[in-house]
Amino acid sequence: MTDSKPLPWYKEGLKFKCTECGQCCTGAPGFVWVTIEEMERMAQLLKITLAQFKRTFVRQRDNRYALIEKKRENNACIFLKDKRCQVYTARPSQCRTFPWWKENLHTKESWALTAKQCEGINDKAPRVSFDEIRKILAEQES
Ligand code: SF4
Ligand code: SF4
Repeated sequence: MTDSKPLPWYKEGLKFKCTECGQCCTGAPGFVWVTIEEMERMAQLLKITLAQFKRTFVRQRDNRYALIEKKRENNACIFLKDKRCQVYTARPSQCRTFPWWKENLHTKESWALTAKQCEGINDKAPRVSFDEIRKILAEQES
């Protein structure tokens, strides 16, 4: 039997290209969750130990780790400097997969709201195919 589940509203893909503006790394307080493996990768990039990384860059909440935010700088992530991510090549999955989060893709309206916070979502940006979006969503579930 074939799966007759209807395709989502973004079946033709969506327009997006990150401008690296840094806007999604600042603003309302929140949590950028990080796993041990992600912390290890960032520590390696910064040429420090995992213990040093934990002491300096993360806070613990309910047995999970999240990157520290700079409260006095509009809650910017501790790695945001001059609007640039200092660990870009090793940034955590939560950052790599933005704006393709389930809650943002839920409806056209939620996507439009996301576009208000992310200048990379705009009509001039290249189209990201449905297949690519599906892959990014799958990454978040694995
Ligand atoms: S807000 Fe959008 S365009 Fe700006 S850095 Fe984040 S993902 Fe990229
Ligand atoms: S790790 Fe980098 S991409 Fe992620 S929130 Fe911090 S500055 Fe932004």
